Amino acid sequence: QKAKDSPSHDVHFTETVMREYEEEKKILEIMQQSVEQRRFRVWYQPVSHLESGFASAEALLRLNDYEGNPVPPSRFIPIAEESGMIDDLSWIVLEEVCELLEKHPESQVKSISINMSMQQFADAGLEKRILDCLKRHHLTPDRLKIEVTERVLLHDMAYMKNVMYNMNHAGIGFYLDDFGTGYSNLASVLEFPFECVKLDKSLLIGFPGNPDSEMLVKTLIELFHSMGEKVVVEGIEDAAQAEFLKALGADRIQGYYYSKPLPEEAFEKYYL
Ligand code: C2E
Ligand code: MG
Ligand code: MG
Ligand code: MG
Repeated sequence: QKAKDSPSHDVHFTETVMREYEEEKKILEIMQQSVEQRRFRVWYQPVSHLESGFASAEALLRLNDYEGNPVPPSRFIPIAEESGMIDDLSWIVLEEVCELLEKHPESQVKSISINMSMQQFADAGLEKRILDCLKRHHLTPDRLKIEVTERVLLHDMAYMKNVMYNMNHAGIGFYLDDFGTGYSNLASVLEFPFECVKLDKSLLIGFPGNPDSEMLVKTLIELFHSMGEKVVVEGIEDAAQAEFLKALGADRIQGYYYSKPLPEEAFEKYYL
């Protein structure tokens, strides 16, 4: 009680809030400048398709501060979402991905996935805008996949279901991202038309060798397969994990073991 009321506590609290606020303001500034000066980069993390040996990839935004040090997405994406800047950023990613795919019509990389936040789905013109971009770059819709998290779905389930069915109808597939980070009940997630589910790396704690997590991952893979969905496991960092997941029937793996996210030039050179 005493500590709470003491002036020093209040000063400390105020300082912390101010520092947070200043830092967010700085990141927002960096983002605004980076959009104007086209300094955002899109990196690509290859995903290994275990059956075919082919690959796909996930597009990931990269931002540097004025000194050239990377600002992690976990830091700038929430600020971009809050400020509305995520809209501009999403279009940059879409445009970049389509531009890159257009250059490689015969690539072994059949598709690239992009991440989308809740804000994008508030836009009634989303589907048209994506289809227009694909058309402008002479791409069939199956070359682009959209990743959403459970949080996006549960915001407005009926609306999201409708959007997803419409976009599926137009040929655009959806991936469920970060499954297992725990927002929802499984039953509601299964109602959505996903082509593919990405199991989050947090499900791999002590894996392999931890019977509980092995049983959980095995059961989830079987469940999603019975729904006709492919399963990607994220965050695979070593051969033992990769081998075990292959044995459990995972379709694809994504993680530092196969490849870290790569700058566009390197991804293009080695994978496209
Ligand atoms: P995500 O969509 O789940 O992307 C996968 C994240 O896991 C990436 O982090 C990737 O670098 C990291 N990762 C991949 N393999 C491994 C591994 O083996 N070990 C570990 N420890 N990490 C691994 P990144 O690039 O920092 O992105 C973080 C999150 O930021 C993404 O998570 C996504 O939610 C968000 N994000 C990134 N780009 C965009 C974007 O263009 N739009 C939106 N809305 N969100 C984005
Ligand atoms: Mg470019
Ligand atoms: Mg993702
Ligand atoms: Mg993920």
